[in-house]
Amino acid sequence: MLNTDIESFSNFIDGAWVAEDERMDAINPASGQVIGNLPRSSRETARLAIAAAKKAQPGWAATSVWKRAEMCVAIAASIDRNRQKIARTLSQEQGKPLSEAVGEVGKAADGFRLAAELVKQLGGETLPAEDPSKLVITIRQPRGVYAIVTPWNFPVNIPVEYLGPCVATGNAAVWVPAPTTSMAAVELMRAIEEAGLPRGVVNLVMGEGPVVGDEIVSHPDVNGIGFTGSPATGQRIAERGAGKPMMLELGGNGPVIVFEDADLDAAASAVAGGAFYNAGQVCAATGRVLAHRSIVEPLAKRLVELTAAQILGDPLQQGTTMGPLNNPKVVAKIHEHVDDAVAKGATVLAGGKARPDLGSDLFYEPTVLTGVTRDMRINREETFGPIIPILEFGDDEEALDLALDSEHGLSVGVFTENLGRALRFGEAIPAGIVNVNESSTYWELHLPFGGAPGTKSGIGRLGGRLTLEAMTELKMISITRRR
Ligand code: NAD
Repeated sequence: MLNTDIESFSNFIDGAWVAEDERMDAINPASGQVIGNLPRSSRETARLAIAAAKKAQPGWAATSVWKRAEMCVAIAASIDRNRQKIARTLSQEQGKPLSEAVGEVGKAADGFRLAAELVKQLGGETLPAEDPSKLVITIRQPRGVYAIVTPWNFPVNIPVEYLGPCVATGNAAVWVPAPTTSMAAVELMRAIEEAGLPRGVVNLVMGEGPVVGDEIVSHPDVNGIGFTGSPATGQRIAERGAGKPMMLELGGNGPVIVFEDADLDAAASAVAGGAFYNAGQVCAATGRVLAHRSIVEPLAKRLVELTAAQILGDPLQQGTTMGPLNNPKVVAKIHEHVDDAVAKGATVLAGGKARPDLGSDLFYEPTVLTGVTRDMRINREETFGPIIPILEFGDDEEALDLALDSEHGLSVGVFTENLGRALRFGEAIPAGIVNVNESSTYWELHLPFGGAPGTKSGIGRLGGRLTLEAMTELKMISITRRR
């Protein structure tokens, strides 16, 4: 029987909400219930959105920088006005506690404000030339139409990391959100529409990544790609979008390294925060802990205490600190990784099991594992769940070797009071970010973020002016003086 209370959503193309025949369900991960009805769009629909973006982009690029910046500020204000509504949908559909969702939406507004500030400073330069008759300048121009494909873990903030700079620099966008968080995407799109962005500048197309995502990244009228998601999809997009400029923000398995001289209370609280925030579904999460043999026991004791303080439950309930995981694929991987670790000799100190009694099969207890070794999947692969696997090392060389022995290189934490050691590890570890005496998750919107070369964590740098530069093309103009 059709539940008429369930809202039916449409794509946003060329400034209008457009219906799509094929449909898919939006599910509340805390209850398993259907909470919305979404378009499962076709390639043809994605092409209509690309055409709308292509038509709108020249006019938007011709709009003055100050007017585009004003529009970004207006969008930020609209997101702020709708903050509670967007956050509620985000929490209900993604599974994160409402307080985290409110924080995420606030960051999305900040992202548009930051793009507005920075675009006013985005200039070229005047360069000296060997030929005395020449005056050489460089200018930055938008690339045209951007394909933006985003994941479900931060479904409001991550899109804005691309959309803010994209709108500010005079590009147009077709945005494909993750299917499991498309209602949150609609709420963000509504806020952008409410601010009065000209039609066609940002278009939202919902559906399956391999269909609509693939269409937008491979289409010849799309001039650039912004993608955040898994390394496997990033690889596919790199192939399908070959030749286009692209930012690929992919997975991580960030270790936090805790040395024997570390402040253990600070280290434990950073590790728990980095592993449990958003139920561990964070690319820069603390995926594993490398701890000096002499402090494993006291560190693990503190971590078990912090784990016990987590309140797993309904994300909309006040007091909940951890909600369900977002979808069954994530939970299946957590089970596989924990089972593999236990079969190979790891010990479960806390958690270690699903909690279907809380409302759905997607609840998994925050977990601490000791006795984790190099060969275990939980050490080698990104788990993306609320798990703290602890590996031991005997000296600095072994710690470095363990840190280097990874396919990922996104974000790392190092806890030590020894500045020389902190610098040595900061410089030696292949990662985009090394945070000393801080969680692996620390980052701010204006700071560089991205994967190290030669790893599976991506290419390019997001953050502040870097994203604006990445979304614009540098053009050299030479002017010949008449004598
Ligand atoms: P995913 O790669 O499965 O999906 C990401 C997006 O890509 C979704 O919108 C999906 O629909 C789309 N997609 C899937 N197949 C596609 C295809 N063939 N062509 C085009 N688009 C396609 O990733 P996920 O499970 O949604 O997200 C989790 C992953 O994202 C983790 O690996 C995590 O580390 C990573 N992540 C990275 C960052 C970062 O900034 N580095 C941030 C958040 C998440």
